[in-house]
Amino acid sequence: MDIDQAKIPQATAKRLPLYYRFLENLKASGKQRVSSSELSEAVKVDSATIRRDFSYFGALGKKGYGYNVNYLLSFFRKTLDQDETTKVILIGVGNLGTAFLNYNFSKNNNTKIVMAFDVDEEKVGLEIGGVKIYNLNDLEKIIDPEVSAAILTVPAASAQKIADRLSDVGIKGILNFTPARLTVPDHIRVHHIDLSIELQALIYFLKHYPL
Ligand code: ATP
Repeated sequence: MDIDQAKIPQATAKRLPLYYRFLENLKASGKQRVSSSELSEAVKVDSATIRRDFSYFGALGKKGYGYNVNYLLSFFRKTLDQDETTKVILIGVGNLGTAFLNYNFSKNNNTKIVMAFDVDEEKVGLEIGGVKIYNLNDLEKIIDPEVSAAILTVPAASAQKIADRLSDVGIKGILNFTPARLTVPDHIRVHHIDLSIELQALIYFLKHYPL
């Protein structure tokens, strides 16, 4: 079945990696089908939302049977481009950046940090988690043209300048871990993850909306 990916709502698209990871684990443990309530329990998304999400990609669960794990996985693999490795770069090899390089997303999907950049001469030339660190001054000269996204873990004050350069070299997406709000051209997508705000929000909810 051909699915028009443009019709998948963004909120649904964002949950796909979550579903994908869980289904891979299921497959590895030999399970061939899964019910929406089992999925719901595992990924902490309510089962009505899961059923609606899955209906977008033509996976209609059968009552008493559930969903076919292989069908879902092959759909997700295509949608998430898991058959190909997506190349990502990381800029700013501080504490957070170093943790990402060591983690490198290798366990769950085919996204890979292929190069890292920093301005600290002591870090340039080192390799962390198998990823070489280059001088950011050389970005334009040495960037692999297949790189589609960048993870930004630099101090907030340098974020905008770097984002400008990233858009000039053809990066399509930026995962921004700095507190800076970035201004980028329309064809570039920025996802902003501000860990301290997320933590503050969680603590606020714990205080005011206890479960
Ligand atoms: P983190 O914020 O990840 O915990 P940290 O506290 O170790 O890191 P920061 O000062 O936040 O250090 O800097 C993060 C990394 O970004 C450092 O490795 C630093 O050398 C690098 N960095 C600083 N300015 C720039 C820049 N303009 N371009 C690229 N890298 C930079």
